[in-house]
Amino acid sequence: MSKIYDLVIIGSGPAGLSAAVYAQRACLDTLIIEKTGMSGGQILTTTEVDNYPGMPGIGGFDLGMKMREHVDNLGGLFQTGEVMEITDHKDIKEIRLDDGNVIQTRTIIIATGASHRKLGIPGETEFTGAGVSYCATCDGAFFRNRTTAVIGGGDVAVEDAIFLARLCQKVYVIHRRDSFRAAKVLSEKLLALENVEVLWNTTPVSITGSTNVESLNIHHKDTGEDQSIAVDGVFIAVGMEPNTDIYKSLVTTDKTGYIVADETCRTNVPGIFAAGDIRTKQLRQVVSAASDGANAVYSVQRYLEENL
Ligand SMILES: Cc1cc2nc3c(=O)[nH]c(=O)nc-3n(C[C@H](O)[C@H](O)[C@H](O)COP(=O)(O)OP(=O)(O)OC[C@H]3O[C@@H](n4cnc5c(N)ncnc54)[C@H](O)[C@@H]3O)c2cc1C
Repeated sequence: MSKIYDLVIIGSGPAGLSAAVYAQRACLDTLIIEKTGMSGGQILTTTEVDNYPGMPGIGGFDLGMKMREHVDNLGGLFQTGEVMEITDHKDIKEIRLDDGNVIQTRTIIIATGASHRKLGIPGETEFTGAGVSYCATCDGAFFRNRTTAVIGGGDVAVEDAIFLARLCQKVYVIHRRDSFRAAKVLSEKLLALENVEVLWNTTPVSITGSTNVESLNIHHKDTGEDQSIAVDGVFIAVGMEPNTDIYKSLVTTDKTGYIVADETCRTNVPGIFAAGDIRTKQLRQVVSAASDGANAVYSVQRYLEENL
C-alpha cells in the first residue's frame, strides 16, 4: 500500500476515458478502475451512436473500443475492480475495492455514470437495442415514419414524445396517472400534437415481437382491460439512477442522488471530482461526458499545483 497515485479515475465510460487521455498527456501518475473489466460504459449497449462529432453512425461498442484504444496507446493503467468505499484523509484518499485491496491517491475523479431506471417487464431486456430504447435523442432517428410508444409522464418522457412526434408517424404515450408531472408548457405542447395519443391511467405489462419489437401490451387501470398496441419502438423514460450509492456519505448529492458539481467537476470535498452522467447537469450524452473528463483533469492539475 506504499504507492500513492496522483489521480485515480473510477469508471471507464466516455467521461473516465476522456479524463484518462488528458491525464496521460499531462503525465499524471494515474490508475483507472473499472468494475466490469470492459471500457465504454453505457454506449456499449447501443447499436449506433449518430451524434458524436466526426463519427457519424459509429457502433456504440466500436466507439467504446476506440476510446479505450486511445488510452491504451498513451500507456494508461487499468485495474478491474468495483469501488466499494472511499475514505478522505485530506491530502490522501483511500479507495477500497471489492477484493479488499486498498489504493491510495491524492485526487479522485468519480466517473461511474448513471443507469436508466428499468420497468422490469418481460421483453424489456430482450429487446433493448432491438426496438427498446432509453434515449429518444440517441435512437429516435431510427424510427422515422414508424410508430413508437413513450412510457412515462415526467419532463423527459414528454420531451421525448414531442421529439419523436416530429419524426414518427404516430406516438403513443403510456402514463400511469391521469395528468403529467412534466412542466405545463411541455404538456400543453404535447397534447396539441395530432399524431400523439396519450393513454392515461395505463401501465406497461410486456413487450413482444420476433427479432424486433412488434407490440406493447398495456393494462388500463380504470377499466381493468388489457390492450396490445402495434409499435416499432418503445422509449422508456421513467427516470435515471445515478450510480452514487457508495459516495452519498462522502460528497454532496442533490435530492435525486447526482453528485453536485459544475463544469469544473469540483465536488464539495477538495481533491474529489465528478465527471459525466454522475454529476448534476442538463444533458447526459457522450459528448458532454467526454467534455467533463477533460475539464475534471484540468481541475485536478490546478488542485495538485495548489496543494503540493
Ligand atoms: C442505450 C443507450 C443509448 C445511448 N445512446 C447515446 C447516443 O447515441 N449518443 C450519446 O451521446 N449518448 C448516448 N447515450 C448516453 C451516453 O451513453 C452516456 O451519456 C455516457 O455513456 C455517460 O458516460 P459516463 O462515462 O459518464 O458514464 P457511463 O457510460 O455510465 O460509464 C460509467 C462506467 O463506470 C463503471 N462503474 C460504475 N460503478 C463503478 C464502481 N463502483 N467501480 C468501478 N467502476 C464503476 C461502469 O461499469 C461504467 O463502465 C446512451 C445511453 C444508453 C443507455
